[in-house]
Amino acid sequence: MAADPLGDLVIRASRVVVGDAEVPACVEVRGGRIASVTAYDRVPSAPTVVTLGEDEVLLPGLVDTHVHVNEPGRTEWEGFASATRAAAAGGVTTILDMPLNSIPPTTTVEALEVKRAAAEGQCFVDVGFWGGAVPSNLGSLSSLHEAGVFGFKCFLLDSGVEEFPPLSSSEFSSALAETAGLGALMIVHAEDGSLIDDSLLRGPTYAGFLASRPRSAEEAAISLVLSAARATGGRAHVVHLSDADAVPLLREARSSGVPVTVETCPHYLTFDAESVPDGATEMKCCPPIREAANREALWAALASGDIDVVVSDHSPCTAALKASPDFGVAWGGIASVQLGLPAVWTGARSRGCSLVDVVRWMASGPAALVGLSDRGSIAVGMQADLVRFAPDASFTVSAAALRHRNAVSAYDGMPLVGEVRETWLRGVPVADEDGPRGRLLVRGGDS
Ligand SMILES: [Zn+2]
Repeated sequence: MAADPLGDLVIRASRVVVGDAEVPACVEVRGGRIASVTAYDRVPSAPTVVTLGEDEVLLPGLVDTHVHVNEPGRTEWEGFASATRAAAAGGVTTILDMPLNSIPPTTTVEALEVKRAAAEGQCFVDVGFWGGAVPSNLGSLSSLHEAGVFGFKCFLLDSGVEEFPPLSSSEFSSALAETAGLGALMIVHAEDGSLIDDSLLRGPTYAGFLASRPRSAEEAAISLVLSAARATGGRAHVVHLSDADAVPLLREARSSGVPVTVETCPHYLTFDAESVPDGATEMKCCPPIREAANREALWAALASGDIDVVVSDHSPCTAALKASPDFGVAWGGIASVQLGLPAVWTGARSRGCSLVDVVRWMASGPAALVGLSDRGSIAVGMQADLVRFAPDASFTVSAAALRHRNAVSAYDGMPLVGEVRETWLRGVPVADEDGPRGRLLVRGGDS
């Protein structure tokens, strides 16, 4: 990999998100880390001083713990170069790659090595890896854990790809007991397949697709997760919560000490089922985008702290796989690693939330979730991953202009507020011409 320059500079801005406040400040970067945060008028000496515009805010780089890169094996869907370019363009400086949709899936140490080799030298932001928990590797998760994955992903129903089978409820309980013993995090796609009725999803109507995947399927699976976490003490994290009715279950479990956390995604906070046109399969994802009232309840759960983090579930595929207007045929998944920040900010500001909230949901929260203690906030000693963000600038999304591999986007044509103007990785602006400078991360430190 090319030498990794480490920026020495000062970035000065009248609005910097520091802790739970927005303040005028100078952020001094030395050797790729934040060396000091001083008052706006106390500018440390440095070879370069960058002063942000009055319309710009300095944010920490986002940490997106839910990205499907798909390389190797389905690189035509997405690859490390395109996914991480898109991430940087969206203000995301660290991604964690999901263990499925690549071939091989990341369910053995050998497969992790294959994936790391594929990623090496291609990444424009830092990349860590989740392992997968599948029936065939139960009892031997410790080897992947020791190889540095950030935790394990499992499904409780068909994952959509045959090489990544789901766990039965009893297998899930033993897997959670195993990860509890390792001190590892288990992240769960929580839908109960027995409550999903595929006969309803044929055809182009969104209502049919929505009816096929009812809220009860999420609630049943989450109940299973909660009882297993209660019984084993294993840390569980529910990925991509769509059903706001499950929030009270999670809150109650948490208040009684069950080690569980939960994420939702920008698309559940942005779109609503009532507005999805027939045949708009770019909106298909699982669990589904639900009604507007559900979306508002998700926002309330974020504001109350019942939902911990917002991450993209960037899940791209080829344009051909999204071409069918039939919800029973088109691939499910929404590619949005580049748009998470403006999408969430657009929704947040209209509901009276602040950039401090957004940073908690999308940077410091996800970093804490996976134990990345050196990033996710602007503080002395942190990696100098920073974003120049114009919170009042508006733009209209053009799928063709996005940097992930295939020009398909649920957001195409949508006006959003909040423009990412520059992204620094370890104090150096991410730029195509400088090549990929991202590092491959292992749990507990970089490699
Ligand atoms: Zn996913």
